[in-house]
Amino acid sequence: MQKGNIGVTTDNIFPVIKKFLYSDHEIFLRELVSNAVDATQKLKTFASVGEFKGELGDVTVNVNIDKDKGTLTISDRGIGMTEEEIEKYINQIAFSGAEEFLEKYKNDANAIIGHFGLGFYSSFMVSKRVDIITKSFKEGAKAVKWSCDGSPEYTMEDAEKADRGTDIVLHIDDENKEFLEDHKITELLNKYCKFLPVPVAFGKKKEWKDGKQVETGELNVINNTTPAWTRKPADLKDEDYQKFYRELYPMADDPLFYIHLNVDFPFNLTGILYFPKIKNNIEVQKNKIQLYCNQVFVTDSVEGIVPDFLTLLHGVIDSPDIPLNVSRSYLQSDSNVKKISSHITKKVADRLQDIFKQQRPDYEAKWDDLKIFIVYGMLTDEKFAERAESFALLKNVDGKYFTFEEYKTLIEPNQKDKDGNLVYLYATDKEAQHTYIEAAKSKGYDVLMMDGMLDSHFISRLEQKSEGKVRYARVDADVIDKLIMKEDAKKVDLPNEAQNALIDMFNSQLPNDNKKSFVITFENLSADNLPVYIMQNEFMRRMKEMSATQSGMNFYGDMPDSYNLVVNAAHPLIGRLLKDEEAACGEKVNPLVAKLDELSKKRADLMGDKKESDLPDPVKEEVKKLDEETKKVRDEKKDVYVKYASESKSLRQLVDLALLSNNLLKGEALSAFIKRSVEMM
Ligand code: ADP
Repeated sequence: MQKGNIGVTTDNIFPVIKKFLYSDHEIFLRELVSNAVDATQKLKTFASVGEFKGELGDVTVNVNIDKDKGTLTISDRGIGMTEEEIEKYINQIAFSGAEEFLEKYKNDANAIIGHFGLGFYSSFMVSKRVDIITKSFKEGAKAVKWSCDGSPEYTMEDAEKADRGTDIVLHIDDENKEFLEDHKITELLNKYCKFLPVPVAFGKKKEWKDGKQVETGELNVINNTTPAWTRKPADLKDEDYQKFYRELYPMADDPLFYIHLNVDFPFNLTGILYFPKIKNNIEVQKNKIQLYCNQVFVTDSVEGIVPDFLTLLHGVIDSPDIPLNVSRSYLQSDSNVKKISSHITKKVADRLQDIFKQQRPDYEAKWDDLKIFIVYGMLTDEKFAERAESFALLKNVDGKYFTFEEYKTLIEPNQKDKDGNLVYLYATDKEAQHTYIEAAKSKGYDVLMMDGMLDSHFISRLEQKSEGKVRYARVDADVIDKLIMKEDAKKVDLPNEAQNALIDMFNSQLPNDNKKSFVITFENLSADNLPVYIMQNEFMRRMKEMSATQSGMNFYGDMPDSYNLVVNAAHPLIGRLLKDEEAACGEKVNPLVAKLDELSKKRADLMGDKKESDLPDPVKEEVKKLDEETKKVRDEKKDVYVKYASESKSLRQLVDLALLSNNLLKGEALSAFIKRSVEMM
């Protein structure tokens, strides 16, 4: 028997491996099974070029647990190793700057293993002793047994082994007994080895017999050696893609579309990406793309490898050019990975373009589900946005779909305002905004449906991209004649005091709610518009909507909703309201108005053309007194209006109707409105 020291420069690598690699213990199995698969594939290659002339036979890699002995064994019938090869590949571990590196990457087992080529040695994370019993495929080779207990010393001796290939026997240590449990190993094989290119069997298939599970003679193969992404697109039907999707995500809804990636230049990449049906929460759908390297599972957190918006997709990417055993930060800065990322974006865009061109009805039917990906992509990836211009769709309230170009052509003749701006009208809620939608339609305008969770961001982008001459307006943001102004607005001709009276009266009857603020304005509109209506400020509303889906904008989120109560001064009902008010309040108000006039004249005389600060003190005093009196009289006048307003059923009715058409009339106020309406009939 031969004894020797493993060629590492650090005193003892194994405590280091055990200590630092705690978080990812389980990858040892991936490493060992991958080695077994590699050895098998090498043998197949030798066979195909005539360097191996024997029978390949069954090359299944077998994983077996022996609970009594406390061992986990991985056996292959691959090329095996000669004594010299063990010396070269196992005993000499290239090792430089080890400690420094380990310190830096102590939480990233992948990085460490990749850096040192320690795949095999990861077995010491879970073992107190590891044996290799191996026999090379080379003619006349002798079987060898290598054994090591985790110290840098190993032993090597002749062994008995009938067949070529390698058995790796792990004597599992006490802290890692879980790796002797069937369910644990099944779980790991399913995670890492499900699509390896050589059959991998975990023990024998079991069946129920007389109330007990018993082993059958058949191998329990756990992998699919030719998963769909490794096959030629031409050989696959739609069903195959659907079936593969089921293999990956047994519980998910059917996907919308798939994209088969097949690139061999400037790097190798295969894979199938699926557009899943997204439920309402985007976050939970992330991290579903699985990354493989030659059919070995690497990770399912692909952030940094594929563009952010594509992390919403499902599926598989396989590339030998994405380094398997490296750290996350390394992956993200790797230039190959960056190229791969932009290439995937391009492929996805191309495929969507094709589907759109060739199967437009199907594409339209799925658009509502697809939209979230494309909008998200357009918002976060400029390159994708450019490509998507040709296949992103707009949908109107009647459920018709248009490309950007088509829609522009549709509305251009009719929806330009007097300044030449093209106005895109949109609704976010067909029911709530029904009156407004109808008003727009009656003018021959088209209204878009924009009810997606990213639409307020999307609209901002569309406006920005259009260089000024385009405006998006929510259909209820104003009366339709003002949303698309065809001529200059008519001047409001109401005397000052009439406006003051209306402001005081309406203000007093609006909801008293610190989450809402109202400003009263006047318009001169035709009589077919409402006498009083309420609009939400478009800018504030959008800012608030965006703040709901974007951090860092809480400022807007916390502001009250701001509304305009617009009084249509030209409406006969407003005229009547003023007349009634005049009759009821004139007697009290007129002297107050005269008084205010007098006060303001007095003040003007005192001030002359001076500034208040330049006045001599006694005059300042007098001005101050006048101001106080003015305020008193004004309040007095306001009280008269407010008292009148609170008794005027028709005024309250007007306010409530305006609130109602904006879904703002609720609870007690709504009951009062209904009661009053009945009384007035
Ligand atoms: P890597 O696989 O990254 O080269 P490993 O430490 O896992 O590093 O393995 C070192 C070498 O040992 C392999 O390159 C291979 O030559 C040899 N080896 C490991 N496992 C086997 C096996 N099951 N059969 C034949 N050779 C093996």
